[in-house]
Amino acid sequence: MTRGYRTLLLEQSDFAKSTSSKATKLLHGGVRYLAQGDVALVREASVERGLLLKNAQHLSRNLSFVIPAYSWWEGIFYTIGLKLYDWMAGRLSLGSSKHISRKKTLNLLPGLKEDHLTAGILYHDGQFDDARLAVNLMQTIYDKGGVALNI
Ligand SMILES: Cc1cc2nc3c(=O)[nH]c(=O)nc-3n(C[C@H](O)[C@H](O)[C@H](O)COP(=O)(O)OP(=O)(O)OC[C@H]3O[C@@H](n4cnc5c(N)ncnc54)[C@H](O)[C@@H]3O)c2cc1C
Repeated sequence: MTRGYRTLLLEQSDFAKSTSSKATKLLHGGVRYLAQGDVALVREASVERGLLLKNAQHLSRNLSFVIPAYSWWEGIFYTIGLKLYDWMAGRLSLGSSKHISRKKTLNLLPGLKEDHLTAGILYHDGQFDDARLAVNLMQTIYDKGGVALNI
């Protein structure tokens, strides 16, 4: 609609039902896709994540995550991987990931299994209100003269 197309949406159920209603509300670049080597997907998702955080500030936010490392090798592996993840978002990065001490990891994640814990890696992704985004998308369709119908 906002790109000049005439739009008709026909939904057989409720809007944003099906898979969309099952999402965990993460606005992510896809760390796990990076682990799988799908670089193009991570780049695309990281850019879209940044654009949504800019365009829909009322329903999205920057969120920090911590990955615990249980060996020096895991610490190095996740630190390098998440630096790469930051870098792939380019100017739309949500903040630098960092290696944090064992003590700080336990402060941030009380209840974590302590045996063999060596450190943590803190990184940034996003979280969004998926239901509210769906409502806003419907509003945009109608504001721009399109039609969205469901049962
Ligand atoms: C457990 C889980 C967690 C997830 N967590 C996240 C997350 O945190 N962050 C994230 O970004 N992504 C997440 N995803 C992925 C995300 O939910 C999907 O990529 C997204 O919802 C896909 O949206 P969609 O509109 O393509 O498909 P859908 O939401 O499945 O929408 C397709 C719609 O088409 C309708 N339809 C089907 N056939 C017809 C027909 N013949 N006529 C009319 N209507 C029809 C269906 O009723 C449905 O509403 C998660 C997925 C799952 C399963």
